[in-house]
Amino acid sequence: MNPPSPRDNPCVRCGACCASFRVDFARDELDEAGGRVPAGLAVEVTEHTCRMRGTDHARPRCAALVGTVGVDARCGIYEWRPSPCREFAPWASMGVGDEACARARDRHGLPPLQPPG
Ligand code: SF4
Ligand code: SF4
Repeated sequence: MNPPSPRDNPCVRCGACCASFRVDFARDELDEAGGRVPAGLAVEVTEHTCRMRGTDHARPRCAALVGTVGVDARCGIYEWRPSPCREFAPWASMGVGDEACARARDRHGLPPLQPPG
């Protein structure tokens, strides 16, 4: 199967999950600890874990999210995003959402993804 073009990838414009859930990950993933996630965009949670800045606010929005959710949102650190973001809703970029994806989209007034076909 050919990968979807960026235009067909629903995640490219959506970004609802980046403005819905806490994003916690190991400190080892920070650039200052030898990983790739920019440390300036994260806050410390414990000695071993940290969180993307803004994702624990009453109205969560990751500090790395650029644009408007559901319109033109995108991750400003896509190549360097932490592991939870890489693992979230793995089929969504193909247009197949899961329960967490659907919850995030509903929170922002967007319909759930439907399988193609
Ligand atoms: S995984 Fe779901 S909620 Fe997240 S950007 Fe993609 S379509 Fe939107
Ligand atoms: S790092 Fe990128 S993919 Fe992860 S929550 Fe933030 S904006 Fe979304």
